[in-house]
Amino acid sequence: MFTFEIFTVFFIGLIFGSFANVCIFRLPKDKTIFFGRSNCPKCKKKISWYDNIPLLSFILLRGKCRHCNTKISANYFFVELITGVFFIVIYLFTNNYFDFVLINLILIIFLIIFFIDLKHFIIPDILNFSLIFLGLLKNFTPIKNLNFNYDIEQSIIGGAVGYLTIWIIIFLYKKLKNLDAMGLGDAKLMAAIGTFFGLKSIPLILFFSSIIALLIVLPSLINKTRNLKAEIPFGPYILISSCFYYFYGDKIYQILLI
Ligand SMILES: [Zn+2]
Repeated sequence: MFTFEIFTVFFIGLIFGSFANVCIFRLPKDKTIFFGRSNCPKCKKKISWYDNIPLLSFILLRGKCRHCNTKISANYFFVELITGVFFIVIYLFTNNYFDFVLINLILIIFLIIFFIDLKHFIIPDILNFSLIFLGLLKNFTPIKNLNFNYDIEQSIIGGAVGYLTIWIIIFLYKKLKNLDAMGLGDAKLMAAIGTFFGLKSIPLILFFSSIIALLIVLPSLINKTRNLKAEIPFGPYILISSCFYYFYGDKIYQILLI
């Protein structure tokens, strides 16, 4: 019975992973998400349902289009797989369906933002606004046992300060160095994070994000394959830091306050 449950959860995860792929591919191009079947970006042939089965089709077709043999990015496979696996992990770690659904929704949006920002350096508003909506809504749930801040006042203050902090950084960089340090998409994402964790999470998450950004950029700066003015996506680092904060934020603050 247990195995059957796990398998079902994995399967639902795969379907959502497949949906996430569609969003990652179509949202930056402003195509409608819900309508129209996918087609091959190269030969434009419609992808049949039997070539669109999560994980399986990719393996059977060996990552190529059935018609024109164009390579299909392994990203599709990867996103489906990790969504399925994360669904199982979240299923095992949450003890009610409400938390299960909430965390999974956040996860899906995180994944979509992560891959879109990594590739296109943008975060579509619809994703940030959905997160902000969830961040505010979770304050009104009857079950409050996740590592979030469940205080509406804290959510609103956290959201506002999150947005303003990045806005000020953008403003100062523009004024002083005439550089686009970050985008307003990052500011809105930080606002969303503030609604989930409250005001005190902002400095720590920004600090972690900057450290990760530095670690990733540093090798290419040293090798001079990139200069300081090159654009880097900051959204993925905010997301990774937020996940870290979810598990360890309180512990770190306990240590800092001793
Ligand atoms: Zn094709």
